Amino acid sequence: MARWGFDGRSLSFEFFPPKTDTGREKLRRTHARLAQLRPEFFSVTFGAGGSTREGTYETVREIQASGDAPAAPHISCIGASRESIRELLQAYRAIGVRRIVALRGDLPSGMVERGEFAHADELVAFIREETGDWFYIEVAAYPEFHPEAPSASADLRNFARKVAAGANRAITQYFFNPDAYFRFVDWCQAFGIGIDVVPGIMPIVNYRQLARFSEGCGAEIPRWLRWRLEELVDDVEALRAFGTDVVSAMCERLLAGGAPGLHFYTLNMAAPTLAICDRLGIDVQTPA
Ligand code: FAD
Repeated sequence: MARWGFDGRSLSFEFFPPKTDTGREKLRRTHARLAQLRPEFFSVTFGAGGSTREGTYETVREIQASGDAPAAPHISCIGASRESIRELLQAYRAIGVRRIVALRGDLPSGMVERGEFAHADELVAFIREETGDWFYIEVAAYPEFHPEAPSASADLRNFARKVAAGANRAITQYFFNPDAYFRFVDWCQAFGIGIDVVPGIMPIVNYRQLARFSEGCGAEIPRWLRWRLEELVDDVEALRAFGTDVVSAMCERLLAGGAPGLHFYTLNMAAPTLAICDRLGIDVQTPA
């Protein structure tokens, strides 16, 4: 039996740090259900500017202590000093964390101090300088390109800088167009970028929220999908059923086309991700 993942592919789930006791309880239940799928790791997001620093650490600590798959904290460097990142790395190392998702992040509105790191490649280089090969470093990749990038080639060159600085693997921004992913992977190869690029998968659960997120992060909702989702916007059950069909079919195409795994943006909910995994035949595994 595979120790983690499925069919030799990686499987991982992303959470955000809850802010309330109810949120924490809900996340514990979600974690317990998703842990049964034996993912490679659970990642925990970080509010750029440090707003969730404590919450991210606490969530990571709890996941690490659970004895299930390990936790991978996200660290975003915008607005941060080298000293504060150094402390965070030491704190994570002390609880046995071996994987980090290293990001620049976006400056929260109202915050003007950009900090000591300009881009994620500088954070990756700093983590390597400080901790050698202790951490496996994941970075972000954008099949539909980062919204601030001046051009597709500039974005790829910048992605290549993160790899040159020592990133081990990348997780993509979510997308609903698998061809964007396949093209991106081909372009990476042409640019000499040799690391695995794992697609980030967003289950469709709430159209208004999805439309808002997508606007901000540059993930395109194709017209055929947008129109159908707009029609179903107030019929939660029908929207989720349709969303499960669409996203599962996309995952099947991604896997058939050679994607090295799937990383789910779970939104701290188990059911939408489990429904997709079930369609893909990713089963709950019982320990050997
Ligand atoms: P970078 O790689 O630094 O890129 C940002 C922009 O700068 C791009 O346009 C790039 O082309 C350009 N650029 C990069 N390097 C250079 C350079 N050396 N010179 C000039 N230009 C450069 N945000 C959070 O706040 N918290 C999270 O936990 C979080 N998790 C995420 C997880 C994943 C898998 C993904 C895909 C995104 C996540 N984000 C998160 C969002 C992310 O922080 C934003 O997309 C942010 O705008 C960019 O972060 P980055 O690490 O990709 O930045």
